[in-house]
Amino acid sequence: MAVNSELKYAGAALSDGSEERIPYWHLDSGQPGDVFLVIAEQHGNEVQGCEVIRRFWRVCEEHLRAGQVYLVPFANPLALRHRRSHITLGPEQPYADAAGQNMNLNWPGDPEGHDTSRLCHALHDAVVRHCTRCLDLHSWSRFTATCTLVRADVPEAVALGEATAVRFQMMVPPFRRDPAEGTTIGSLFNDNGLAATCIELAPQWVIREKEVALGLRAATNIAKLLGMIDGDMEPLDGPAVTFDQSTRAERTHTVTAPCSGLFVENGLETSDYVEQGQSLGHIISDVDLSTVGIPAPVAGYLWQYGCHREHSDIALPPQHPYADEGDVLASVMPVE
Ligand SMILES: [Zn+2]
Repeated sequence: MAVNSELKYAGAALSDGSEERIPYWHLDSGQPGDVFLVIAEQHGNEVQGCEVIRRFWRVCEEHLRAGQVYLVPFANPLALRHRRSHITLGPEQPYADAAGQNMNLNWPGDPEGHDTSRLCHALHDAVVRHCTRCLDLHSWSRFTATCTLVRADVPEAVALGEATAVRFQMMVPPFRRDPAEGTTIGSLFNDNGLAATCIELAPQWVIREKEVALGLRAATNIAKLLGMIDGDMEPLDGPAVTFDQSTRAERTHTVTAPCSGLFVENGLETSDYVEQGQSLGHIISDVDLSTVGIPAPVAGYLWQYGCHREHSDIALPPQHPYADEGDVLASVMPVE
């Protein structure tokens, strides 16, 4: 039986009286099964998931055989056009400065609230409330590895997380927040007998083929896990590195700058495997121009890589490779 694939719109009435029409795809196999939501770009600078969804739409059109799929590539079109995480953010302003209009703290939304909350409400009404499983696609900075965030207390969510076949899997606790203030989309599912998982496809601001491929594999694997698409899940090449958010620091071997200077990376990327003693790069000392090698302290996968400071996700100076003595240059997680 052919898949019924439709382009639809969730209409949000904005505070200025205009209507924002959020486009999404709805695919129906005509057979019973889960209703799987894949959503991206809640934060306007996190755009890798948008292309993941476009490709997954093609996969579903061809292969969906059970259940339904809702695909929302541009969850927050206002922030997309603003080219920043939230519509209220200005240059170099951290995400947390405008928490009120952080979309992923506003579910299920409010039709009388601020505009971001109105977008949530429109999507919740048209899409989210129909869904049983959710893959929520985000991005963080290039200095931290691509990672699946897994709600550790929800077995179905753990299964979704494993199916993403992403190297790093961070087990996270329930998100505690006054429900009246709104919550994350993942919590809407995981707190209500359903299941969701989230992937941070690093980095923000750009779309990279490798990350898109990871995201597509994750979405397709989840659909296979749920019996919506036939075939075996495509596994991760090598072991997953699963760790608890609360014990991350204990699992991580951090490399700091032994002196000040410019950190020159060695062509590695986050998630790459390194051997103990392998060169991670070097520092050019700004004191005496000496070259100071930076070896990996332990064998494992690069959880962090590159000289950076706080807010490297929204500003350029914190991405500058000049390190003060003691700045973090990399961190490695061994496989347990
Ligand atoms: Zn995000």
